Amino acid sequence: MGYPNGLQLRASGLTIPMICRLEELDLSGKRVFVRADFNVPVKKGKITETHRIESTLPTLRFILTKAKSLLLASHLGRPGGKKGPEWSLAPVRDHLEKSLSYPVSLAPDCIGAEVEALARNPGHKVILLENLRFHKEEEANDPAFSQALASLADVYVNDAFGAAHRAHASIFGMAKFFREKGAGLLLQKELDYLGRILSSPERPFVAILGGAKVSDKIGVLKNLISKMDCLLIGGGMAYTFLKAKGIAVGKSLIEEERIPLARELISQAESLGIPLFLPIDHIAAEEIKKKPITTDVGIPATYMGLDIGPQTITRFSQEIRKARMILWNGPVGLFEEKKFSQGTKSIAQALAGHNAISVVAGGDTVAAVMQAGVEDKITHLSTGGGATLEFLEGKKLPGIQALEE
Ligand code: AMP
Repeated sequence: MGYPNGLQLRASGLTIPMICRLEELDLSGKRVFVRADFNVPVKKGKITETHRIESTLPTLRFILTKAKSLLLASHLGRPGGKKGPEWSLAPVRDHLEKSLSYPVSLAPDCIGAEVEALARNPGHKVILLENLRFHKEEEANDPAFSQALASLADVYVNDAFGAAHRAHASIFGMAKFFREKGAGLLLQKELDYLGRILSSPERPFVAILGGAKVSDKIGVLKNLISKMDCLLIGGGMAYTFLKAKGIAVGKSLIEEERIPLARELISQAESLGIPLFLPIDHIAAEEIKKKPITTDVGIPATYMGLDIGPQTITRFSQEIRKARMILWNGPVGLFEEKKFSQGTKSIAQALAGHNAISVVAGGDTVAAVMQAGVEDKITHLSTGGGATLEFLEGKKLPGIQALEE
């Protein structure tokens, strides 16, 4: 299973000899390349959600106190190997400049003679390279492209946990060109908390899983179930489990082909003695735009379950209050619609109001926590979506592997 035992898990008191931490790198007088994850939502040239940028600022501030210069690189969106102003990192440059109180130069590209000249110019202390995915070679992990990126700096730091599951040039290929390389503070924090869930969670450890589909969470469920003290399932994925138990789910989102797996997981939890809670009441509607009802006797044939009901909120909150460590991934309802957002908001509030180590993972779930305004009361908001799930599935992430070599 799982991640190598030697991985650094500071929070759980273990050490990791294979990956260098930022604090251990020799940065003085060096040009430091940071692969960050600035893949933030941008609308009409304005960033609408800055969590990923804010999360990496401690790394950047630390480097700026020591290094000669800082080169920042990221992808943004899916430009598919073509340049386009809508995918430019210009809005990120503006945000960084304000947050760091440093002039930040936006390079015209991420490789090439002009960029090399800029990187060598002592007049530019902080340089943001233009979108890595303007070159198809980035996603292809092209060796020449990796080398061109690597030639810009002396030290390589990866702080892009959200992209660590991609074997791309800036995440994987370029790392081998550096003797001095390591994990930024954000990457370390992610590994600390998520690694702790894999290796030795505080007990009782309660996991709350939601979101649209069971399929996306199978790997996590299989890898983590034996480590949980309690499992709460909500959201769209709960209906496949409810159907597996013979409960009427009406038109709710279900995955027929996953019903046998749901049955298997229910009986596995039973044989391991792990309480598995499914919704006992629902906010349901015939259509998203129609008036909802609350039901606790299964869901009528023409209705679909779109949020957990009040009794489920109470039940889930009771279990949350027993926990010393909590993992939450996936909203428990269609939280984007106000009338189906109460369950997800209540879970966020239950986590915030309870004194335990809380780890929230997944873009939608983090957004829901922010919508509830309780982000400051959560121990760790993971910046990864796919990366977090793959890590919790026990997969080795290329971005981490590259730092080990
Ligand atoms: P995921 O990316 O798998 O975590 O799924 C998140 C999405 O699941 C969000 O867009 C939610 O609106 C959606 N979702 C959660 N609960 C339900 C539900 N009961 N029915 C339909 N969609 C849901």
